[in-house]
Amino acid sequence: MTETKSIARHGQGRGCVITRRACFSASHRYWLPELSADDNAARFGACALAPGHGHNYELIVSMAGGLDADGMVLNLSEVKHAIRKEVTDQLNFRFLNDAWSDFDVSKPDGCLPTTEALVHRIWQRLSPHLPITALRLYEQPGLWADYLGHPMDAFLTIRTHFAAAHRLARPELSQEENERIYGKCARPHGHGHNYLVDVTVRGAIDPRTGMVCDLSALQRLVDDLVVEPFDHTFLNKDVPFFAECVPTAENIALHIADRLSGPVGAIGAHLHKVRLQESPNNAAEVYAEMPQLDMTPATLEAAAPV
Ligand SMILES: [Zn+2]
Ligand SMILES: [Zn+2]
Repeated sequence: MTETKSIARHGQGRGCVITRRACFSASHRYWLPELSADDNAARFGACALAPGHGHNYELIVSMAGGLDADGMVLNLSEVKHAIRKEVTDQLNFRFLNDAWSDFDVSKPDGCLPTTEALVHRIWQRLSPHLPITALRLYEQPGLWADYLGHPMDAFLTIRTHFAAAHRLARPELSQEENERIYGKCARPHGHGHNYLVDVTVRGAIDPRTGMVCDLSALQRLVDDLVVEPFDHTFLNKDVPFFAECVPTAENIALHIADRLSGPVGAIGAHLHKVRLQESPNNAAEVYAEMPQLDMTPATLEAAAPV
């Protein structure tokens, strides 16, 4: 009897973060009535074309709380119902500019339905119903926004890739010593990887454009400062910085962060994080600023150990 009771209580009251994924398809158009047709085209590129274009969005909802007597933070059917009622039923197969009045740009306080503006508005609709700690919204596999509950700040990530060769060896050491430290990676003629680079920036969402920063300017910076100089190179020989510094995944990620930090600031955002994936088995992540601990929502307290 005692044993049954203790099994039934296993985990009760202890904190846990759970996630739920939901998908919807929707279209949008970036067009501000106060700008001329030429200015809209210059500012938003192909996203300004009429009548718009669409994406298959993927939403990841993270929620925290203590386990109940049934061993759950929340009943998943209630979670599904809340996400459906507040988000996907309203947005799926809709034109986002019309779906929510937040995106009605004929009104002075309307804003464009960008990924970051959308994830912010989804938070506002879901947070009264669910103990959300974080939301992530993918517009496509290479572009997503994270929102953690700060009044305005959101995170925007773009993913890109380059192919490059490298050799891990310190010039002052013998081949034998290098192979002891770096293993096969120290072989004299190098080897290559298809690197994936995730660049995350943080900033306030502009109340009119809905943007943390000009996305095409950010993409240009990553292309000009990372992809163009690194792609199809032998890093140790072709990138002067790596003639002196061993191009481990960690050092490459740090160097990318150092290259991007100032220029990202110049386009009005803060470089937050760079993640470099070298292979399916290893990746390096560096923060260009301290994690924003003050943005941790109060709901995280519910997940604290008891
Ligand atoms: Zn789009
Ligand atoms: Zn390697």
